[in-house]
Amino acid sequence: METINKNEEYVKEEITRSMQHLSDKRVQHAIKVQSYIRSYVTDFLREAGYIEIAPIIISPLTDPLNHPVYDPKIHAYGGDMWITQSMIFHKQIAVQELKKIFIMSPNVRLETEEKSKSGRHLYEFTQIDVEALEKSREEMMSLAEDMIIYTISRLKKEHKEELEYFHRTLPDYAKPFPVITFEEAEKKYGKGFETPLSKESSTPVWVVDIPLKEREFYDREYPEKPGILRDMDLIWPEGFEEASSGGEREYELSQILDRIQKKGQTEEQFKWFIELAKQGIKYTAGFGIGIERFTRFVCGVEKIEDVTTFPKVPGRISL
Ligand code: AMP
Ligand code: MG
Repeated sequence: METINKNEEYVKEEITRSMQHLSDKRVQHAIKVQSYIRSYVTDFLREAGYIEIAPIIISPLTDPLNHPVYDPKIHAYGGDMWITQSMIFHKQIAVQELKKIFIMSPNVRLETEEKSKSGRHLYEFTQIDVEALEKSREEMMSLAEDMIIYTISRLKKEHKEELEYFHRTLPDYAKPFPVITFEEAEKKYGKGFETPLSKESSTPVWVVDIPLKEREFYDREYPEKPGILRDMDLIWPEGFEEASSGGEREYELSQILDRIQKKGQTEEQFKWFIELAKQGIKYTAGFGIGIERFTRFVCGVEKIEDVTTFPKVPGRISL
């Protein structure tokens, strides 16, 4: 009985909080900006020949992630399935035939409670998830730069009043964005370099060549530089930190098995992907950009929940 009463109170508080949030003018403006960003990035990608595919919500195969989250496992039909943490493998599979794809992909990542204070983490968010067949990391970096420049320039042209609402004057970023290797960044700023790098930058900046232990098994290792990956992160300027992660992908069976083993993971966990690799896949590359983080940066707001209609803050059950 006590639990039920407590729950009722909790629900009441949460509903009140949700309604206050939705009636906040700042939130309403940010949601509008997010809506324009969704429209412009999808316009851009379609124009660039990318096909939008529908998101996957549940599957026996999802991104294992390289950081601790609570397990979003569901048992059904006599087997285990997971709520999508990212569509990395589905992207790699779909693009074998469709060649250039993107997904406005909702991801559930049950992040641990301490992430609630970061301003950047939700346990449900959406990625603009992009993948292309037989493209290099550099080609995908160039596409991401064009996409960001196009989106920001249209926002400035077509929705100046929204940026003014947030007192935001965004520059015209020039392509290519600066690039720094993980090793150089660590040497210059130390561990946790993302924060100072972002604070010092006045333009989005790439971090490339990330060490193997920092990432999952699927990002491709340099054949000539073992232990270093053909991948990249994009960092927003002005302290807004990570915008995107991406890279070229492992596609050769022997290399996939070796990488799974190096990460201390089991082949059983990835049997669906391994089976696919056995049948043969071609190499692909891509990236994912969090739409809420994109909006947060454009609006220049501190908290990611303030750009989200129904924010899921780690540790709190919300509508
Ligand atoms: P990842 O490949 O794990 O780096 O995820 C791709 C992108 O999704 C990141 O660069 C962020 O923009 C976004 N993202 C990842 N995790 C979260 C989260 N918990 N909340 C909001 N956005 C996220
Ligand atoms: Mg990342």
